[in-house]
Amino acid sequence: MRFPLALSVKIARRIIKHKLRKTPRFAMVLQLEPLHTCNLTCTGCGRIREYSTSLKDMVPLEQCLAAATECDAPMVSICGGEPLIYPKIEELVHGLLQQGRIVYVCTNGVFMRKKMVDYLAATYSPALEPKLGELLNLRLITDKQAETIRKGKTDGRPVITPTQWMYWNVHVDGLEYTHDLIVEREGVFKECVEAIKMAKLLGFQVATNTTVYRETDVQEIEDMFKFFSWLGVDGHTISPGYDYDAAKKDMVKRLGKKPEDFFLTRQMTIAKFAKIQEWGKAFTIFGTPVYQEFLAGKRDLTCTAWAIPTYNVKGWKAPCYLMTDGHYAGYQEMLDKVDWNKYGVVNGVARDPRCENCMVHCGYDPSGALGTNYQRGDNWKNFAYNFGARPKPFANGHRIQAFTGVSIGKGHLAEAKAVLQAAGGKGGGANGNGHVHTGSFCGSGDSSERDALVAKVRTGSQAQ
Ligand code: SF4
Ligand code: SF4
Repeated sequence: MRFPLALSVKIARRIIKHKLRKTPRFAMVLQLEPLHTCNLTCTGCGRIREYSTSLKDMVPLEQCLAAATECDAPMVSICGGEPLIYPKIEELVHGLLQQGRIVYVCTNGVFMRKKMVDYLAATYSPALEPKLGELLNLRLITDKQAETIRKGKTDGRPVITPTQWMYWNVHVDGLEYTHDLIVEREGVFKECVEAIKMAKLLGFQVATNTTVYRETDVQEIEDMFKFFSWLGVDGHTISPGYDYDAAKKDMVKRLGKKPEDFFLTRQMTIAKFAKIQEWGKAFTIFGTPVYQEFLAGKRDLTCTAWAIPTYNVKGWKAPCYLMTDGHYAGYQEMLDKVDWNKYGVVNGVARDPRCENCMVHCGYDPSGALGTNYQRGDNWKNFAYNFGARPKPFANGHRIQAFTGVSIGKGHLAEAKAVLQAAGGKGGGANGNGHVHTGSFCGSGDSSERDALVAKVRTGSQAQ
């Protein structure tokens, strides 16, 4: 089956129960943001910018668990910020699983291997040696980590263990060159690939999570699906990048870029997602076929942002994951007080100008599942998709050139490396992959390394 039976049944039962009760609005997926701190500064990420004044704040563990109980969503997506930085992430995952929820840990992948080393240490016995040997051979763990694992873990804290109820949901926005450019850090794509390989070897379920931007090359996205499908990834979430306020402001202020050069309009989204239904057949794409038809421009849907509520350090965020008109103390209070008729696009008319270009997964994917704008046959389509056969892993994934650029020439060192290349020094040439170098929108955070290198190269050139 495309998705584990128990998970599909759980979700279907939730929808049927509320349809029978005629509940007007209810939660399907909780976007839980226990903190907004992140180790990366991705271009286009509104989170770390919108909540820049509360980056040190965290939602206490008990409050996170209470939020899940309150909205009772069958799925919880733990995001942020980087959730693996949350000091009680293991307790949080454990607590949500005990509540019977499907848990997605949405991570940039950088700390995943560390968490899996903890898991191996907590479960170590000599019977694990062949597995350790395999991980060592593939260089997925170091000798030092193997020793740590053999010593065991005795702090009594839970670890994140493989179960069909949990997915690592790894943020990957393209192949190596593109991804590292977007996350503004060299080597992140490679780390994600290593982490995914290790997770699959240990029996974890893994999904990827991709945002499509104006600059995204759709052929590259297809190649990315092929590559990760070949690696045994269990599913892919894909959503268009939306020009929400916080990301827009950051783009203008910090990067000196025009948001319209980066984010998608509705028409552009439809063009980029022209092959989404084909991808849905070839790969295990999360989301309903009805949402896929919407993305491909074949039908209208009405926004149901209330079905994917966001809870974070400020409370329940309304109206949606992307836009903030207020925060509420309770989920029901938010449902009652927000005028939901003010949002979304209906019959081609944006009820709020900020919604005009939005076709994002968190606003419209539940609409496909919940039967808003129902058309004959939709229920069958959704049923056949979810309970149908799972696409086979892509056989020739090893032929995909996933590592489209060595680390030189990307990230915040791009400018320095360009100078180095112009000066005839070593280290240039990373752009031999045919991609247009767009490093000008990188360069966030600490630029001292880049500045020092540029200065050094310039001094060296003058001295010659
Ligand atoms: S990994 Fe990137 S997109 Fe995710 S929270 Fe961190 S900065 Fe934002
Ligand atoms: S259409 Fe819905 S999800 Fe999109 S910005 Fe508007 S309220 Fe948010």
